[in-house]
Amino acid sequence: AKAAGKRQWRRFQPQLRDRMAARHDLQARLDTAIAREEFALRYQPVVDIIADEVVGFEALVRWPHSRRGLVPPGQFIPLAEETGHIMPLGAWVLRNATSDMARLQNGSRWATPPYISVNVSARQWRDTGFLDEVRRALDTPGLVPGSLQLELTESVLMQRDNHIDALTRELKGLGVRIAVDDFGTGYSSLRYLQEFPIDVLKIDKTFIDDIPQDPRQVALVEGIVRIADTLGLQVIAEGIEEPAQRELLAGIGCRFGQGYLFARPMTVEQGEQVLRRHDQR
Ligand code: C2E
Ligand code: CA
Ligand code: CA
Ligand code: CA
Repeated sequence: AKAAGKRQWRRFQPQLRDRMAARHDLQARLDTAIAREEFALRYQPVVDIIADEVVGFEALVRWPHSRRGLVPPGQFIPLAEETGHIMPLGAWVLRNATSDMARLQNGSRWATPPYISVNVSARQWRDTGFLDEVRRALDTPGLVPGSLQLELTESVLMQRDNHIDALTRELKGLGVRIAVDDFGTGYSSLRYLQEFPIDVLKIDKTFIDDIPQDPRQVALVEGIVRIADTLGLQVIAEGIEEPAQRELLAGIGCRFGQGYLFARPMTVEQGEQVLRRHDQR
């Protein structure tokens, strides 16, 4: 058994070496890409599923890689989080998302202009420079006050300490809304929801996937919506792809949603067109 183990190890080694080389390569390219700001943003509409109106956009980062096409964030955000690249990259996202949104808001004649929602990694949340970056982003000319939302993961709720609590108070004071992303996939308890000044719960796509056919999932989603109501939180259902999902969600009072059924992530120009179409109705 021992010899077999050894043989396996030998076979495994070159693969490991390849993987490490690929990682190293990606890391070096990430360095250059950040220095040259070679990223792009796409915006996915958040929709009021009852009124059928766009209420906001979530910024989603893309890496237009010369050889690999548009690299999805799942392939480089985790690495950027590990290496610390997420700090300059996250700052870039915040800057560009808010300036794009200022442009979108100015083109829209709505009573309530759309908000912009930006994903923030746990590591950024802990970074001492983060608050200043948010302040600068809020100073973007033309950005409507109160229209920035930050999405954090349940892990941030659980790592609370004085720094996080002070930061959160400051952000709330600046009129920033806080959303919990991928809600239900982590280990946060109801107590965290009550103690942390959250405004929005985003129900993870995995809960939405099996409604309306799976009654247990339906009951779960209904429970989340009811708890959110009790705590005075908004709810956004993520990953709505089917009309039947939308109907069920509307029926149980889940007012907001995101998903391919409504729109895929789009360029800022496409976002402008979507808003213009809405304006004309
Ligand atoms: P997320 O924040 O949960 O974003 C939702 C993801 O689901 C996006 O993938 C979006 O394109 C996709 N999606 C939306 N509607 C549907 C649908 O109906 N069906 C399906 N199958 N997918 C849908 P994307 O853009 O590949 O982003 C993946 C993840 O990367 C994000 O998950 C987020 O965690 C992370 N990410 C993206 N941009 C940033 C960023 O600027 N900063 C940080 N820290 N993370 C980011
Ligand atoms: Ca998100
Ligand atoms: Ca999510
Ligand atoms: Ca996710």
